[in-house]
Amino acid sequence: GSVFDHVVQAPEDPILGVTVAYNKDPSPVKLNLGVGAYRTEEGKPLVLNVVRRAEQLLVNDRSRVKEYLPIVGLAEFNKLSAKLMFGADSPAIQVKRVTTVQCLSGTGSLRVGAEFLARHHHQRTIYIPQPTWGNHGKIFTLAGLSVKTYRYYDPATRGLNFQGLLEDLSLAPSGAIVLLHACAHNPTGVDPTLQQWEQIRQLIRLKGLLPFFDSAYQGFASGSLDADAQSVRMFVADGGECLAAQSYAKNMGLYGERVGALSIVCKTADVASRVESQVKLVIRPMFSNPPIHGASIVAIILKNRDMYNEWTVELKAMADRIISMRQQLFDALRARGTPGDWNHILKQIGMFTFTGLNTAQVAFMTKEYHVYMTSDGRISMAGLSSKTVPHLADAIHAAVT
Ligand code: PMP
Repeated sequence: GSVFDHVVQAPEDPILGVTVAYNKDPSPVKLNLGVGAYRTEEGKPLVLNVVRRAEQLLVNDRSRVKEYLPIVGLAEFNKLSAKLMFGADSPAIQVKRVTTVQCLSGTGSLRVGAEFLARHHHQRTIYIPQPTWGNHGKIFTLAGLSVKTYRYYDPATRGLNFQGLLEDLSLAPSGAIVLLHACAHNPTGVDPTLQQWEQIRQLIRLKGLLPFFDSAYQGFASGSLDADAQSVRMFVADGGECLAAQSYAKNMGLYGERVGALSIVCKTADVASRVESQVKLVIRPMFSNPPIHGASIVAIILKNRDMYNEWTVELKAMADRIISMRQQLFDALRARGTPGDWNHILKQIGMFTFTGLNTAQVAFMTKEYHVYMTSDGRISMAGLSSKTVPHLADAIHAAVT
């Protein structure tokens, strides 16, 4: 017998498991809209041109070695990532009240931030939106925080439950952490307006809550890096404290390179410096120090004006293609006379459409049409193309009629 005989088979991950099922399906018409990864019109993964260029520079530079990075990662990458998130002329960066450490993409940044909070923040409760990215609850629970939810999405309007959100946050205990999606809320595609953000900010500051931003889609929502960072910047401009987890998976297409950063914005430079020293104690026994390749790519692109501009053009093209998929899917459903109001497909922001299809309808579409998506009815618009829209529209039409 094995010492592991008692180990039971674990269920597949609710999101990544969709791809596992998709890969097993032999159908030639199968369509994977589960995982949030960008695909071209041809349905192929995309490596940005500017990323290829940066990699070429890396390969040709014989002075580059494979030594360990410091615990906090590549200094240049951290500096440039903070500027990207908080703005090139951010006073908070200038007075050094921000500490930024390189982590393993967005997930790793959230986890390191959460572990730091579990050790050093006086209130260990974190409020996450209902619903939210499926990994959030697990990340924060395993880091030692106690997870509660706040109302976010209203299925009736397929929009924001703003009243519910304000009520729930106003009932949160002082000091509680609040997880906020910086933009392109996953899975709902519903973001607060700037006016609503301002009200959320006032409430959070009034109640002394601690905002923790998850920024996994900067530039992917509107096509503009600055516009997509507005929410976060409001919470820094007021002089207050917050955390931000950045991912370069989507906006630079660096998914598997695992490049991200955690920033902790503090009241003063002195606090920021002590906070960083403690974050290092979190990272050292977790993964010791982060990988060098992806962060070097990002640093090259961010510090070179010409390459930065090329990146913004390629990023805008990805965002625009996603937006055009929204229109095409909407038009295809209208053309079929599919019952229901599908305006939310146009209104929602970012990579996903929260279709409103229920678990049974999703199961039907997978079984009969080989269309794969998460069981909550979320579809990745970035996985669609002009060629596959008709098939998806047929599947949705059949599922709701
Ligand atoms: N947060 C949200 C809301 C996400 O959608 C994702 C990616 N699916 C992440 C964080 C983190 O992704 P990664 O670790 O690949 O950067």
